[in-house]
Amino acid sequence: MTGTSGLAYAFMSQKERIAKLKMHAAKAAAMAKFEKMTPNEIAVQIKCLTVSNFLHSKEWRELKAEAHSKYGFRCMCCGYLPKDRRKSHVDHIKPRKLYPELSLDFENLQILCALCNKRKGNKHMTDYRRRRNQ
Ligand SMILES: [Zn+2]
Repeated sequence: MTGTSGLAYAFMSQKERIAKLKMHAAKAAAMAKFEKMTPNEIAVQIKCLTVSNFLHSKEWRELKAEAHSKYGFRCMCCGYLPKDRRKSHVDHIKPRKLYPELSLDFENLQILCALCNKRKGNKHMTDYRRRRNQ
């Protein structure tokens, strides 16, 4: 049976198909980048991808603090300002899973509340900074 995935694809909406193709394109672009990397650079990427390592790394903590001091704690998507600052998340606009090389790129960061961050997940790459600045 080869039909299962084909059938699933047939039932997808146009929007879902485009999203899927975009995801494949992003992965292909990432792979192309990896091929040009030195072993040392790849080691850094692996470190970035290991969630526990990354989120507790000195580099990420410092960058997160920098993002909060530049942007504050207000959600850039819904405008909510959490009383508990721990609920103000520093989000990767382009998800780390797909763009590990942007894990520590300040330009890839935005402030989101816990709810908006959860809603965004790895599926969307909406940059809410632009929308708020307009
Ligand atoms: Zn929000």
